[in-house]
Order: sequence, then C-alpha cells, then structure tokens
Amino acid sequence: MPSLTFLGAARTVTGSKYLLEVDGQRLLFDCGLFQGLKDLRLRNWSPLPVPPETIDAVVLTHAHIDHTGWLPRLVAQGFKGPIHCTAGTADLCRLVLPDAAHLQEEDAKFANKRGFSKHQPALPLYTEQDAAEALTRLRPSPFKTSVSVTKGIDVEFINAGHLLGSSYVLVTRHDGSGARILFGGDLGRYSRPILPDPSPGVEADVLLVESTYGDRAHPGEDDGATLARIITETVARRGKVIVPAFAIGRVEELLYWLFRLEDEGRLPKLPIYVDSPMAVKGLGYYAAHHGELDPEIAAVRRKLPRFTSIDSARDSKALVETDAPAVIIASSGMATGGRVVHHLFAGLPDPRNTVLFVGFQAAGTRGRQLIEGAKHVKMFGQYVPVHARIEKIDGMSSHADALEIIRWLRTFPRAPKTTYLVHGELVAQDALKARIAKELGWNVEIPTHGQKVDLPL
Ligand SMILES: [Zn+2]
Repeated sequence: MPSLTFLGAARTVTGSKYLLEVDGQRLLFDCGLFQGLKDLRLRNWSPLPVPPETIDAVVLTHAHIDHTGWLPRLVAQGFKGPIHCTAGTADLCRLVLPDAAHLQEEDAKFANKRGFSKHQPALPLYTEQDAAEALTRLRPSPFKTSVSVTKGIDVEFINAGHLLGSSYVLVTRHDGSGARILFGGDLGRYSRPILPDPSPGVEADVLLVESTYGDRAHPGEDDGATLARIITETVARRGKVIVPAFAIGRVEELLYWLFRLEDEGRLPKLPIYVDSPMAVKGLGYYAAHHGELDPEIAAVRRKLPRFTSIDSARDSKALVETDAPAVIIASSGMATGGRVVHHLFAGLPDPRNTVLFVGFQAAGTRGRQLIEGAKHVKMFGQYVPVHARIEKIDGMSSHADALEIIRWLRTFPRAPKTTYLVHGELVAQDALKARIAKELGWNVEIPTHGQKVDLPL
C-alpha cells in the first residue's frame, strides 16, 4: 500500500516535506527549512528517516524557503535525482537557495568568532557550493502538463496563485487504479492584485491542504486605506516606515499599492527604498513571467516602478543612518535575519518610526515578538527597546484565510477520501478541521511530525 510520511509542516508552518512511497519508489514533495523556535530549527540537523540517495525525485510546489530551503542539505547528503518544479519556481530558487546558503555560512562564521557554538568549529547546515549543486538538478516544466517523474507516476503543476510559479501538484498513479493525490502547497487568495486566483480543485483521492490562517478571516478589502493611514501618520511624525518583507512575493504587492495610492493622490510622494538586491531581481522575474500574473497588473506595469534599489551593504548602512521620512522594504519577512535587522536595531527605539508587518509571523521569530507587543527585542546580543509603532496588515498576506480555504475546497468535484491539514499551527488546524467537517462533511486528519500513514489507494 502506498504510504505518506509527514517530515515537516506538521502542526507547524515551516519545514514542508512529505515523503510518498509507492511501488518501491520514493518521492519527496517539497524540501523546506524549519524556521522559528529553536526546537524546530534543530530539526534541520536531523537526518531523514530514509537515506537521501534512495529518493528517486523531489517535486516542489513553490520557491519559498520553508518549501525549498533544505534542498542543498539533501543534495549534500547524497540525493542524486532530479528536482521537478515550474519555470517560475526554478527562477526564484536561483535567488533564494544561494542566499540561504550564504546566511548559513555567515551564521557559522559568526558562531566561530563569538565561540558560542557547541561544535568546534561550527559548521554551516550547507554551503553555497551545495546550493549551486542543487540548482543543477532543477527540471522546470510548464503548468498543466503531465510530467513522468518515476515509473508509473506522473505529476502536473496547477497554478495556486500564492507566489510566482506556485502550484498544487497533482500526482497520478498509472497502475490501473488511476489514484490521485493532490499536494496543496500554499494556497493563494482570491481577487488580489499581481497573482491570479487559485485554480479550481480537481478530482483527488487524497488531499493535503495548508492551514496557516485556518482560524482567521483576513480583514475585508479596504482599497489600501490602512496602508495609506499608517504611512500618512508616520510621515506626520517625520518617521520612517520599515517593512520586513520576504524578498520574493510580498514586495511586488506592496509596491503595487504604494504606486497606486500615490497615483490616486492618497499618499505624499515619498522616497521608497527596496533594500534587498534579491527582491529587485525577484521583481525582474515577475516581469519576465507576466503571462502568469493577474491580467489587471498589465495595466499598472506600464507605470512601474519608482523606487530606489539599495545594492551595496555600504549604501544599506547609510540608509540605516538617515532619519528622513521614507518607506524602507527589506528582508527577512519575520525579522529573523537580513538587512532589515539593522534597520530595526536603529529604528525601533525611535517613537517616530513605524514597523509594518505584511506577512505571517511564525512562533519564535522577532516578528512574532513585536506584533505580540514585546517591549524589548534582542538583537546583536543587546536588548533593544521598542518605542516605534508596530502595525500589521493581514490583508496583504499571500495565504488564503479560513473562508478562502473553504471556498477553494468547494471547487472540488468530489470529497477526497482523506484530507490532511498541514502547514499550520495546531490552534488554526483544529478550528479549520471543525469548520470543514461542519460545512463540507469531509474526513479531515491533522498529522503529527514524522507520522507515516497508509494511503487508501
Ligand atoms: Zn509559501
């Protein structure tokens, strides 16, 4: 009987990895990094329950690091097969994997300098060389095209509207049963700029669906009013708006709104800085794949974009030191690393400034501490007082809320035999499970980390 093992994103939102074993073959769906709480991050150092060289192929739903950031480690540990994904995902992986490797190497160097690692010398989880090797395995395919990944198993990528290149992966078994499994990846949102709506569901026997916002409804569309208010109030205080943003994804939508509000005269003309060379490259990939984006964006793209790209670390440092009103977009999105940490270190003690979060903040991250009202946060070994205003806009999230998840599930031609909730914290999952049972009457399971289930196929 085919089996599925949940090797990540089980009762948590990071580390997505699902091992499908069928007819003597092994396929790994997503290969994400664990982030956030220390107990989770330590899992990045644990070996997989099966030797990496016995995995025949990897299939990726999208390029976010919590779905791809363990690939270099997998390759370094002996995985020899191809990595299937869409063309957009392959492009974005070329940005995020070398960057992730660089951060791992920097962390190890820093630990050695300070001597706080238990291991002497501290080693990186993987190196830039490992990331480069992983990139050579990428095998991009178009959406809506059947791709044979191992004997008797085809996959097809279906646009999920969550990030450039993001997909659900439909797995079809050609053994006469025609059994189908749909790996939901992360689910995008309806009626948003930049990305298309999630594609409708398809017939499937087993479904994995994310549940990040399974207990919440995003606030209704406010036509940019909250963003306009936050920026206008900050400018009135002569402060800066610092936006921690994932380098790929949210930056496009944020810029779209900034330009639109400015164009409509609802915002003063302000300097806008994108302090992330990776984000600027990401914008280029969005432009290159514009055929996959929301048709509405084509009209706006003619006027895009007015912002200043900060390339060098020196210019970034100079920007940290200025205190003129501006919008500064820098990664990482949960304020766990990257250039935004320097902006926060300098900007948090100043009550004129605002820190604006536009994405999900996982437990254990600095971003989560700040939105939960921390009075101090630790950075570079010091406690930094928080006097800046902390704001968040959930409506700009790239993840479907509970209503949108249910809306998407209603597009399925029939109920899957089993639906597994993944990629969510347990509180959100319990709420979503109850809601799906009540509104759709489906059979829903919440797997635990490492759990192996036999699939009814
Ligand atoms: Zn994602």
